[in-house]
Amino acid sequence: MMIAKPLAEEMKSRIAGDVARIKKEFGITPKLVALLIGDDPVSRTYVDLKRKDCEEVGMTSEVIDLSHYDKGESSKRILDKVKELNDDRSVNAVIPQMPFSGKVSEETLFSTLSPDKDADGLTPYRLGKLLRTEYSIENALLPCTPKGAILLSKYYKVPIEGADVAIVGRSTLVGEPLRKLFQDLNATATCYHTKSRHLEEKLMESDIVVAASGRPPELYGKSGFRVVNESVKPGSCVISVGVRKDEGSGKMLFDVDTVSLKGKCSYLTPNTGGIGVMTRVCLLQNTITATRIQIEH
Ligand code: NAP
Repeated sequence: MMIAKPLAEEMKSRIAGDVARIKKEFGITPKLVALLIGDDPVSRTYVDLKRKDCEEVGMTSEVIDLSHYDKGESSKRILDKVKELNDDRSVNAVIPQMPFSGKVSEETLFSTLSPDKDADGLTPYRLGKLLRTEYSIENALLPCTPKGAILLSKYYKVPIEGADVAIVGRSTLVGEPLRKLFQDLNATATCYHTKSRHLEEKLMESDIVVAASGRPPELYGKSGFRVVNESVKPGSCVISVGVRKDEGSGKMLFDVDTVSLKGKCSYLTPNTGGIGVMTRVCLLQNTITATRIQIEH
């Protein structure tokens, strides 16, 4: 099992050391601001966890709740707040918690956010740097979930070079950046989506399968997606990203049936304690990177 904890603890202790050094040398306490925009109930839980993570490593954090704006007035007020944060010298990194529930377009928001404070690497400038391969995996403002998936794979020495990688999902948040990161490590990576044909065969041929659909069959029926024992070849690596809460039962439903895959895969991330943990620690690391960028400017 590719449990994230040992790597995450190692990274957190390095980050705590960085925070202490930055405080001592520059008198700055790195600060992350999480913007709560949409009305997805899970978003609130996620931003609370991010606050707790910041406290653990000695960073400051703030949650700004803009979710009460109604759709008519929301866009301008949200963008005004982002501009204010861009100019606020006490703020080093900003993470707008997705989804935005249609209150502001992702494109407009990420075009407004300063690339120097872009904690999830989703501004056009940061995505452009990724596309042009102008980054180092450890020290660039890259999207947190894809970065976390790669760092965890490297930590467990998953053979990436030359591997065929199937990523189910093609979003700007997860699928596409992850495809580029795998490709840059000399894998052959493909994103699949709802219109992909022969998905079952493609997964069966792949050395690494990343499941990032967030469409559990319990909620989505035939248009749902799940990786089960029969979906992959023996010895493969399966990375579990997708998760959705069943509002009725309160249960978390995952893209991967990890129980059925035990013994079949050579590498498998747990549904909890895997990519979610890596995403959170990468956010802390990005906050340090953003703080350093601002110190240098
Ligand atoms: P998204 O924007 O909704 O994208 C989902 C992608 O999956 C889309 O590209 C969609 O295809 C594809 N898809 C959906 N059903 C499919 C099916 N049956 N077969 C093949 N492809 C299918 O979601 P996202 O933002 O990328 O996030 C994906 C999942 O990861 C969500 O569950 C999210 O909660 C989770 N996530 C977890 C973490 C973590 O820390 N663990 C972090 C980020 C995201 P189309 O493009 O054709 O619609």
